[in-house]
Amino acid sequence: MLPRRELLKSLWAAPLLAQSAKGLPPLTIKDVKVIATSAGRGYRWIFIKIITSEPGLYGIGSASNNFQPHAVIAAIEKHLAPWLIGKNPEQIEDLWQSGHLRTYWRNGPVNNNVLSGMDMALWDIKGKRAGMPVYELLGGKVRNAVPCYDHIAGRTKEQIVENIQKSQALGYRHIRVQMGAYGGGGFIPNPAGGQAFDEDVYVDTIPPLFEYVRSKVGNTPKLCHDVHSHLSGINAVEFSRRMQPYQMFFIEDVLSPEQLPWYKQIRQTSTTPQAVGELFTHPFEYLPLISDRLIDFVRCRVSSIGGITPAKKLAAFCEPYGVRTAFQEGGDNDPVNQIAAYHVDISHPAFGIQEENHFPDVAKEVVTGAGEIRQGSLYGNDKPGLGIDVNEALAAKYPLQPAGKGYEYPLDRAMDGTVVKP
Ligand code: MG
Repeated sequence: MLPRRELLKSLWAAPLLAQSAKGLPPLTIKDVKVIATSAGRGYRWIFIKIITSEPGLYGIGSASNNFQPHAVIAAIEKHLAPWLIGKNPEQIEDLWQSGHLRTYWRNGPVNNNVLSGMDMALWDIKGKRAGMPVYELLGGKVRNAVPCYDHIAGRTKEQIVENIQKSQALGYRHIRVQMGAYGGGGFIPNPAGGQAFDEDVYVDTIPPLFEYVRSKVGNTPKLCHDVHSHLSGINAVEFSRRMQPYQMFFIEDVLSPEQLPWYKQIRQTSTTPQAVGELFTHPFEYLPLISDRLIDFVRCRVSSIGGITPAKKLAAFCEPYGVRTAFQEGGDNDPVNQIAAYHVDISHPAFGIQEENHFPDVAKEVVTGAGEIRQGSLYGNDKPGLGIDVNEALAAKYPLQPAGKGYEYPLDRAMDGTVVKP
């Protein structure tokens, strides 16, 4: 007979009993496949396909990581799949929790991408089995469609105004405005070659740009601007203060994640709304900012925090504090992640805005059922599950392109050569 402590331990360690949803036969995970594809356009998309014991029933999830795709592929094939096969796909929360702790070290980007692929695929399976879109399982629609913010940029202030007006003509009410690439407006010639980023130049250049823009387009378009972590400390405080007259919808990532305590000073100095968090992977990064009401929008990428399960919890955490979601997209992102964000966005009261993303026709043949943006809002297709699928034969025709210099993220540098945080 086992000693009492050992007996208790064995009971606690027992897996959950394999129970199935009422009236449905038991379900198990038969296989976990990785689908990696450039989708015909140089993307680095990683999808997980979870195949169940019910003929024809499978789920698709996004595990894309633009800078370390091969690490994600290995983590799925070598570590997730052997653990997941044979388990009950209906127990999403338990699989997320145990999958999260399975690696002992947790909350990193690669781990979260893997969890995200699994989590989205499990929600897809659950929705298909229920015969309902995932948003129905999350509580149903609370809005008709998901408003998105557009991206525009220009090299001159006149070009920027013209591009804002073009975006408005497409139906966008929310528009992100950049002067060229990230950091644009802050670059000066470097005598040693190329360009250097200068924080003071940026702080002097961008607010007058928005003064001009507002004088031309008025206050109707809701304008955003992404600093992309290019400022530090007191410059971020001063920049937020100088942007206040231009009635921004938000300014984004005025600081890098390494400098979050400065948001307290920013809040004390200006009412410019702050959107933060596209680089967040760990809840401890965003939870205090929300509960202290130091930010207005949380910008996590759904697939970087672990999928639909943590995204709906993040939205629920935001709600009582009056903080809103603005889930991140970005040109590298895939249609599965976008539609996963859509299902959370459309069913949650703490939704604020969704970042726009769109895909070329060739990519929409690889991933079918992608969301569609009409008049500045994202629409899903109301099919059961996520409403999306991957054409595996076509995906295989477009493999990932060679890694070059390891798929590095291109960094800006200051005049003395110091790297600028992206
Ligand atoms: Mg951003």
